[in-house]
Amino acid sequence: MVEIEFRNVGKSFVDPNTGELRPAVSNISFSIAKGEVVSIIGPSGCGKSTLLNMGSGLYAPTSGEVYVSGKRVTKPVREVAFMLQKDLLMQWRTIEDNVALGLEIAGVGKSDRLKVANELLRKCHLKGYEKNYPHQLSGGMRQRAALARTLAVDPQVMLMDEPFSALDAQTKMILQQDLAQSLAENGKTALFITHDLVEAIALSDRLLVMSERPGTIIEEIIVDLPLRDNPLQRRKLPEIGPL
Ligand code: ADP
Ligand code: MG
Repeated sequence: MVEIEFRNVGKSFVDPNTGELRPAVSNISFSIAKGEVVSIIGPSGCGKSTLLNMGSGLYAPTSGEVYVSGKRVTKPVREVAFMLQKDLLMQWRTIEDNVALGLEIAGVGKSDRLKVANELLRKCHLKGYEKNYPHQLSGGMRQRAALARTLAVDPQVMLMDEPFSALDAQTKMILQQDLAQSLAENGKTALFITHDLVEAIALSDRLLVMSERPGTIIEEIIVDLPLRDNPLQRRKLPEIGPL
């Protein structure tokens, strides 16, 4: 069953220098099956965020249509969680209240939603920062809080724009593994945007490669890793004595 479908999608923006319409994304068509995890990879400026923002319903396509779970996307809907490239945490809410926001909107009671939020903050290595405000956290910590917020609503479909870009290498590796495992175990459908090939391979079943001109998909790569459940084997190195 197809869960996400882009049909001949294009998006143009007015170029402030010339006043003319300039295509950011041209004639993109692809589909993602239910339970599949796909990454879109491509150089900076090739139109990846624009594409994701059309999947989430934040941007309307200039041409073509986007469908999620059989419905045409025209505005953001609760069934589709998305994480934008900029974290957009609410500055006047604590981290736990930010993470619990989606559940609050869904009408979940305070103690239940804080329980979910605190468990996710622990998983995202933010235990002890529940009552902090976003400006009191580093960029990487805010990104992890935004990730926790996206996971809190536990949607079937997830769209994420460079969710790990601000993290250090070690935290990134651990969170990628955890997320890949949890997506697979729960049969979620996810579309990731990244410019990191290693990340794309670690997370996804399939990669779509975008090119800058003309902002379209030029290649598809199927990931077939036997170690997919645990692509990175960690081992402790022996202690090295003084040289
Ligand atoms: P990527 O995420 O791959 O780095 P973007 O989708 O952010 O690329 O941008 C693709 C192109 O679209 C760029 O030329 C960018 O300047 C333009 N663009 C993106 N968003 C807007 C916007 N809201 N208004 C005008 N131009 C935009
Ligand atoms: Mg981007």
